[in-house]
Amino acid sequence: MNTKYAVEMTNITKKFGTFKAIDNLNLKVKQGTVHAILGENGAGKSTLMNLLFGFYDLDEGQIKINEEAVEISDPNVAHKLGIGMVHQHFKLVKPFTVAENVTLGNEIKRGLFVDEKKTANSVQTIIDKYNFALDAKTKVSDLSVGQQQRVEILKMLYQEANILIFDEPTGALTPQETDELLNTILELKRMGKTILIITHKLNEIKAVADECTIIRKGQSIDTVDVAETSSDKLAELMVGRKVSFSVDKNPKEAGKDLLVVENITVTDARGVQTLKPTSFTVKAGEIFGIAGIDGNGQLEIVEGITGLSKVDSGSIVYKYHNEDIEIANMNARKIAEMQISHIPQDRHKHGVVLDYNIPQNASLKDYYKKDFARGILLNEKKMNDLGQKLMDEHDIRAPHGLNSVVRDMSGGNQQKLIIGRELEQNPRVLVASQPTRGVDVGAIENIHQKLLKVRDNDNAVILYSLELDEIIDLSDRILVMHDGEAMGIVDPKYTTKNEIGLLMAGKELQ
Ligand code: ADP
Ligand code: MG
Repeated sequence: MNTKYAVEMTNITKKFGTFKAIDNLNLKVKQGTVHAILGENGAGKSTLMNLLFGFYDLDEGQIKINEEAVEISDPNVAHKLGIGMVHQHFKLVKPFTVAENVTLGNEIKRGLFVDEKKTANSVQTIIDKYNFALDAKTKVSDLSVGQQQRVEILKMLYQEANILIFDEPTGALTPQETDELLNTILELKRMGKTILIITHKLNEIKAVADECTIIRKGQSIDTVDVAETSSDKLAELMVGRKVSFSVDKNPKEAGKDLLVVENITVTDARGVQTLKPTSFTVKAGEIFGIAGIDGNGQLEIVEGITGLSKVDSGSIVYKYHNEDIEIANMNARKIAEMQISHIPQDRHKHGVVLDYNIPQNASLKDYYKKDFARGILLNEKKMNDLGQKLMDEHDIRAPHGLNSVVRDMSGGNQQKLIIGRELEQNPRVLVASQPTRGVDVGAIENIHQKLLKVRDNDNAVILYSLELDEIIDLSDRILVMHDGEAMGIVDPKYTTKNEIGLLMAGKELQ
């Protein structure tokens, strides 16, 4: 077959200051294929795609699109070359309809005015062609995350893009939405599009990609044929060493009760009861998993325990130093001071301050305490020491060392910083909300080991995750939630994944 290339990036270098984010990298993507870009957090994947999309200028190197040399000086040039991109964080105008978002800047006009009906119809035609199950006239603010992503895809299709870039498209999706997206990607390929997909999820690469280029520290390590390469091999190429996927968990007897949760309920702003009366007990020396499809009451539970949001009724009794302490609706800082630590689901809202550097973020939990605060001045040396300790102990990598601002760090390294800081509090109860979301496999292995260590030291972990495999591998007991209701508490040793899936779908086990 006469292979033609949709994208050729040759000897590409991109520096931020003196730091080489992309270092003499090469990438060749064949027309009409799905090409995965695999690399650890911070490897340079997004930077590379932003170069291809014209967000950044190259320092060195050459780009060819459909075998012609081009200079992609800004995203408009990329559009004209038929390149489209779905970003990690969507760029939609929430109060606008689907049709308005899709056609923004390319509206069908009648005289000076936008012909709204024609515009909506033309968008609906594409929606139907791809079975996207959307109404062009719906406001984007009323759509789920998965549906919003489809609007981003529609935008690319409306602009007749032929080279479609997806930057970590499944990070925020439910398992079902992920399957739908992967099917869409295969459908787009059947229509002759060329697709670049960035992901750290090996099963996704296996499901859709023809070839995969592995990137490490800004350099291309290899490009492999996906069908001929095992997941183990892909992981090894990515992190540069063998990675173990199986979680080594020692059998362990759980200890005494630490948290006794009784009949807690939560009602949201619309008056809907999002958590129905729920009761369970968490013991010392166990990982207590909370499983469910996104939005079925799990977040209400973990935010209730950590004090991030209120419960309407019920009690949460914490057995701390031989005392029974009611922590329901207690202030979050007070709860944290009693060694209940939290790795929050939303890193940017609750986990780090993006414009603070590493020492400042490392000290967020301590800054107001005596040994950190000297008068109103913070003890800078203490903060730096703590920041450095976390960097060393948790293998945190950042572009400008200790003084890096967290905004410039990759998601995985931000997560390591949060986990390091929370472990530094010696948690009696560690609440981990989606601790490995958007984190690469090397770091996932590391995070799993840390959670197990907390358990093995006779403390408790509450693990809320949408990754069912992760819950099953790590947990000693699993609470399964459906529609704000506890469907049961199961022991993963005696329950199959299928049975847990049924409970998640609201079906009782026979
Ligand atoms: P990936 O997408 O593979 O996780 P990125 O391309 O986002 O990685 O980042 C690669 C490296 O470049 C990281 O070390 C990151 O901290 C750094 N970096 C990314 N964007 C910038 C920027 N605008 N300024 C400085 N450093 C950056
Ligand atoms: Mg990225």
